[in-house]
Amino acid sequence: MALITLRKLLDKAAEGQYGVGGFNVNNMEQIQAIMEAARETSSPVILQASRGARQYANDTFLYHLMLAANELYPELPIVLHQDHGSAEACKSAVDMGYTSVMIDGSLKDDHKTPNSFEDNVRVTKEIVEYAHAKGVSVEAELGVIGGIEDGAGAGDMKSEYLTDPDQAVEFVKETGVDALAVAIGTSHGVYKFSKKPDHSVLVMDRIVEIHKRLPNTHLVMHGSSSVPQELLQEINQYGGAIKPTWGVPVKEIQMGIRHGVRKINVDTDTRLAVTAAIRKFFVEHPEKFDPREYLSEGRTANKKMIAERMKAFGQAGHAEDFK
Ligand SMILES: [Zn+2]
Repeated sequence: MALITLRKLLDKAAEGQYGVGGFNVNNMEQIQAIMEAARETSSPVILQASRGARQYANDTFLYHLMLAANELYPELPIVLHQDHGSAEACKSAVDMGYTSVMIDGSLKDDHKTPNSFEDNVRVTKEIVEYAHAKGVSVEAELGVIGGIEDGAGAGDMKSEYLTDPDQAVEFVKETGVDALAVAIGTSHGVYKFSKKPDHSVLVMDRIVEIHKRLPNTHLVMHGSSSVPQELLQEINQYGGAIKPTWGVPVKEIQMGIRHGVRKINVDTDTRLAVTAAIRKFFVEHPEKFDPREYLSEGRTANKKMIAERMKAFGQAGHAEDFK
């Protein structure tokens, strides 16, 4: 199967009422973990690279690793997505051959200060015109998602940062985006909530309201790692020092999927899975030093985590939809 656009994938996901995980990639092992999980569960795939990832791995390396995935897994539909792009990053991703970009116009160029609605509309519209002309999909963000991840997101969560449903309607009408990331109280990184979050903390009602008003716009949840407590325990048991923290319960994400959420960004959970496995390996095998041995432990743990999420989001079994 060829590379497909985010629009095509999420249109099908909407028909089938399921969600699709957007998993971040920075290196070969992460890409392999995602692809193996997708093959095992027969899932469509979103490989997403942040600006930080493109810098870390080098643009050409990373792009060709993703093309290798496409070549080696011909039965799976794959979206190559730019995560949290500036206008410049989005344009270069489109030129390079990505099939989808996220323009993050919610923040100013310092990646900290919330942007004005007008400036967000302006830059998003510019990227929609550029990308759509080349058949590439666009995700945008309205409202501000907290936390810092690869330089994206404001520091503190404030209620005025949540996505306003009226503004969302106007934003989509003005820009013509394919997918909209909404701010509902989630944040990037591992430190999301200081206690197990309930319904009110997550403001899931916003999703219900926005979906009602914009039934044809695919909604995206960012900062949606669940931060499994057993992984934190494992990391700390093997010498880590992560402070108590909670993520977004999978049940809440599934509720979002019932109300128009089609893409769910997961990064922290995969980082935790890899770190736990490698820490454990180092403690249990202090005599070993072949990176292939511990990197493959990390890759296996990552694959298991991703396969679980693919099943929970409902995308498992849906690679077939694109035949
Ligand atoms: Zn994000």
